[in-house]
Amino acid sequence: MAALDTQVIVVGAGPVGLMLAGELRLGGAEVVVLEARTSPTTESRASTLHARTMEILDSRGLLEELGTPPREPRGHFGGIPLDLTLDSSHPGQWKVPQHRTEELLGEWARSLGADVRRGHEVRGLSVLDDRVEVESVTGDGTTVTLSALCVVGCDGENSTVRRLAGAAFPGRDATRELLRADVAGLDIPNRRFERLEKGLAIAARRDDGVTRVMVHEFGRPAGTRTGDPDFAEVAAVWERVTGEDISGGTPLWVNSFGDADRQATAYRDGRVLLAGDAAHQQMPIGGQALNLGLQDAVNLGWKLAIQVRRLGSEGLLDSYHAERHAVGARVRSNIQAQALLLLGGPEVEAVRSVLAELIAQEPVRAHLAGMISGLDVRYDVGTGGHPLLGARLPHTPLLRTDGSATTAAALLRTGRGLLLDLSGEQDAEAPLHRAAAGREDRVTVLSARLAGGADDHPLAGAGAVLVRPDGHLVWTGRTTDGLDAALYRWFGLTGPAAPLTNPAASAAAQGGNTMGRLNGKTALVTGSSRGMGRATAVRLAREGALVAVHYTSNKEAAAETVAAIETEGGRAFTVRAELGVPGDVHELFLGLEAGLKERTGTTDLDILVNNAGEMGGVSVDDTTPEKFDRLVAVNAKAPFFLIRRALKNMPDGGRIINISSGLTHFANPEEIAYAMTKGAVEQLALHFAKLLGPRNITVNSVAPGITRNGNPVFDIPEAVEQMAQLSAFNRVGEPEDVADVVTFLATDDARWVTGAFLDASGGTLLG
Ligand code: NAP
Repeated sequence: MAALDTQVIVVGAGPVGLMLAGELRLGGAEVVVLEARTSPTTESRASTLHARTMEILDSRGLLEELGTPPREPRGHFGGIPLDLTLDSSHPGQWKVPQHRTEELLGEWARSLGADVRRGHEVRGLSVLDDRVEVESVTGDGTTVTLSALCVVGCDGENSTVRRLAGAAFPGRDATRELLRADVAGLDIPNRRFERLEKGLAIAARRDDGVTRVMVHEFGRPAGTRTGDPDFAEVAAVWERVTGEDISGGTPLWVNSFGDADRQATAYRDGRVLLAGDAAHQQMPIGGQALNLGLQDAVNLGWKLAIQVRRLGSEGLLDSYHAERHAVGARVRSNIQAQALLLLGGPEVEAVRSVLAELIAQEPVRAHLAGMISGLDVRYDVGTGGHPLLGARLPHTPLLRTDGSATTAAALLRTGRGLLLDLSGEQDAEAPLHRAAAGREDRVTVLSARLAGGADDHPLAGAGAVLVRPDGHLVWTGRTTDGLDAALYRWFGLTGPAAPLTNPAASAAAQGGNTMGRLNGKTALVTGSSRGMGRATAVRLAREGALVAVHYTSNKEAAAETVAAIETEGGRAFTVRAELGVPGDVHELFLGLEAGLKERTGTTDLDILVNNAGEMGGVSVDDTTPEKFDRLVAVNAKAPFFLIRRALKNMPDGGRIINISSGLTHFANPEEIAYAMTKGAVEQLALHFAKLLGPRNITVNSVAPGITRNGNPVFDIPEAVEQMAQLSAFNRVGEPEDVADVVTFLATDDARWVTGAFLDASGGTLLG
């Protein structure tokens, strides 16, 4: 495989694309930004920064560059006045022209090493197994093709990336619109959401003498526009609504915006991602769209950086869609409500007056202010009792152990996560350092005390806290319980980064093993979160197969299997389904087919390893009918129906391997029911092998002996010594001992073996 040009291509150098580029650089990823415009915008499309966005800019050291926020509390909900004040380091809103925000973010991204290329109009996108290729045309007609691991469309509501990727963008077109113009030389009164008899009028004169007018005539449909309206049209509508003649003014910028409402079904489809208006289209009421887009970028940047550096799991990157699609849907809904209130005619007056009464109630005001400012965004980050879990960290002034002052926002400026010990105990940092070891490039560890009014701070008494780079709290604790899992989930693997910071890194690291015997094959290994299943998944992936890692309850263990595979340059994804219950096979195949389709474009499954199983471990007397039924359902019935279903997806030449047990040939009175189920499993090989011979599909059984798994018995040396004596080699089996046998059966080397029973018990059955 040829070297890649970069790790991530961002299309669109508006505020969202530039913010994302900066975030990716902070996370250590290489990024090229392609922008069709040859120079930055001079227009002032979106101009409102809300409290949450200001907090985020502050946490990157960017806010002070813009000046001092005015803490303007006056906002509105559908034109009804709304005080936006909430508990924040930067409450209220701030009008900052978009070109200024864009300039600032552009300088920042470039200073961090982002490669921003203007005058590149994207025309083509190919999504391949191991990369994307983006084709752009420059001003002189030259075609440039760049390759990367991923592409992110930050190219607005008419996104080219979204179109080229064929991504679904359901919703509806605009039915109503607001006409908007920046006009010099006007002398008209300011109007703040004035509802007149014939329509809505807004006029605001800026310090530079330019007046922004916005107007909607009740009942006038949006129509289908192909470009911006003429100033003459704006002036005519303005006159009909207000009676004022503005046609003598000098228009500097004229446009219109409607109440179209759309959202991409998936913010991520494999190597293609969408952010900002490319992912959601909504009426720009109250400046929420820009804020939503910038917050998409800050949610995505660090996750994508961890992913392309091969340090995290697929699950981390998928959390971008899970978290931000939900936030986008909620913002769209409040915007639609506002559009109805704002652009509706006399029929909405009654609703407006009821709402105005409600907004006068503090809980309602605070609820709406939280929604519009973005301060109330909260993600599902797992279990824990702290009320702030999943929410953004509030303003947190701190005193370091040397007495110097700082804030949590200042500590996030590196773009790393933050593991903060607030307990004030001597040496309490040491266990945290140990927990975060190997992830120092992703997490800052620090001991500090809450400064000023500490007792009232929401984190008082929290012990230690773990904060993501985007400022959301994901773990708190007085001991390190649950910390490892949180560090793994949000910051990926420990240990050295795979050598991907250089895009010319080895083909094996980027695209999988080029010499594997199973290149291009797909495999499902049931129960591969742990034990022999995991070892088999890793081994098959090492041979080049794309592996579906199935589990039932242990999601983190399954993610670890995937991460172990990805660290070696292999490919895998997780699939959850409990086996032995009604609908089990259906559920498993839903996840399996979606995962295969996303990665290969087909649902072909070449290799099925029926490995998941439950042990008995009970005497005859203790074997209840329920226990017996469960063993049969999980160990024997599920494999039969999995094979039956898998045959629909399995091309000729496929492989089916069923894990049995040495106990079908070795007596153990504690495991009679279990051994019966494994006896049944062995029948699968005999009869299915005959049935599927004409399709060149082989079906075999592998029977392990005592093999090390997570069972605590393997921690007791005396017990292990006793078990070892059963094998001819005087040791217990390792999961890899069995995984190698299964892998052999999956390759072409085993083409002449079918219907067989393979003893993989280390000679235990020799007696
Ligand atoms: P293990 O470490 O106990 O792991 C069991 C795996 O199966 C896990 O991935 C588990 O998922 C999954 N699983 C269990 N019950 C399930 C259910 N009802 N639905 C879906 N998934 C389920 O396994 P192991 O010891 O490596 O054993 C693997 C196979 O070898 C089994 O069929 C076992 O009977 C057989 N075997 C084992 C030994 C031995 O000494 N270890 C000897 C002979 C044969 P979660 O992680 O989500 O729970």
